[in-house]
Amino acid sequence: MGAAVTTSYRAEGLPYPEDAPVSQALFDRASAIVPGGVNSPVRAFRAVGGTPRFMASGTGPWLTDADGRRYVDLVCSWGPLIHGHAHPEIVAAVQEAAARGTSFGTPTAGEVDLAEEIVRRTPVEEVRLVNSGTEATMTAIRLARGYTGRAKVIKFAGCYHGHVDALLAAAGSGVATLGLPDSPGVTGAATAETIVLPYNDVAAVEAAFSQNEIAAVITEAAAGNMGVVAPRDGFNQRLAEIAHRHGALLVVDEVMTGFRVSAGGWAGLDPVDADLFTFGKVMGGGLPAAAFGGRREIMSRLAPAGPVYQAGTLSGNPLACAAGLASLRLADDAAYKRLDELSATVGALASDALNQAGVAHRLSYAGNMFSIFFTENEVVDYDSAKTQDAAAFKAFFHAMLSRGVYLPPSAFESWFVSTALNDAALEQIAAALPHAARAAAATTAGDAR
Ligand code: PLP
Repeated sequence: MGAAVTTSYRAEGLPYPEDAPVSQALFDRASAIVPGGVNSPVRAFRAVGGTPRFMASGTGPWLTDADGRRYVDLVCSWGPLIHGHAHPEIVAAVQEAAARGTSFGTPTAGEVDLAEEIVRRTPVEEVRLVNSGTEATMTAIRLARGYTGRAKVIKFAGCYHGHVDALLAAAGSGVATLGLPDSPGVTGAATAETIVLPYNDVAAVEAAFSQNEIAAVITEAAAGNMGVVAPRDGFNQRLAEIAHRHGALLVVDEVMTGFRVSAGGWAGLDPVDADLFTFGKVMGGGLPAAAFGGRREIMSRLAPAGPVYQAGTLSGNPLACAAGLASLRLADDAAYKRLDELSATVGALASDALNQAGVAHRLSYAGNMFSIFFTENEVVDYDSAKTQDAAAFKAFFHAMLSRGVYLPPSAFESWFVSTALNDAALEQIAAALPHAARAAAATTAGDAR
């Protein structure tokens, strides 16, 4: 039945209906027993309204929801799926690993293979595998504090490093999307040692170091959680220089950028003398895997080699390692070239459509990650990102959704392409964009739909 819905609406070029009854029924069931009906806040569509789509399957560039509607996926599971959905080699790797056993609680060869691949591609000398980006940044901060014997950490407003208590201050991603105040439950003690500064502001960093003894600066390699905001030329390296001059460490968070924007992540495009890096998303191939790593001298302080404690029941899970390794092995130069070309194509299509409709916007790239800010202002930090027009984004999002393009349901998130985007998918995007641009224009003309 679902497939019939897809065919009849899309074949005639009609938008999908606004309601999505099967997704709505699932959302109702979920909402009765799961807070907000979702297991991660931005999925709930709170910023854009409407029924969150419950996805039933994915293949290549396509997602199919529980109502049988097909979408081009420009979220890609929030970044991990650079090869699209259900890539046969990744599926086979997971199936083979599962058949050998799902978890052993012992070291396995797959962990060594994945760790070697990470070390080969990035500046890190040693790496520890964990389950989520949150764990990676949380432990990197603990390690930086343990290594330096200091407590204070600098983070930048609008950067998101997972839901680590100390790093939730002025955070991007869902915190920005929902416009939340600092989260209740995060104690004053947990953030007392966190200094929040404006992104891309070297002078603010210098000033903070002159007044405080700092353990570490943590920054997204390129910001992708306030929408996409690239670091100004040399910003990351300046952070390294300032931190080192003061005996502090630089932690570069590549959870989003790592293995997505180049074989070596953002550091592959914009080398930086960071002490620790964090990774996630792409390195798990769509399964839960993340990592942190860095200089051997620092990493050797980690248990059991050293006294800084960290552990995990499922760390280095064999299925996740198999998926991650298969994903990285597919991520060759040709794949990155294709991701770059596709992101340029999609961004240009979107910008052209918005220009045609007379909608003020800024197309903002960091490698092949990009987002569109509905604002006339240059966006360099969280304050400027917040000048975007939320109503225009909302109308744009829903018009794209109704014409079969799944965008992040938030103006504060990156769009992600996969190498699987084919001509049919690009055509569907191109066909949807003029409608979405006109919908966005209608809101700015005071004619909201
Ligand atoms: N760091 C960055 C830059 C991220 O974008 C994210 C998640 O989006 C995280 C950390 C947290 O990762 P996870 O959601 O796997 O905990």
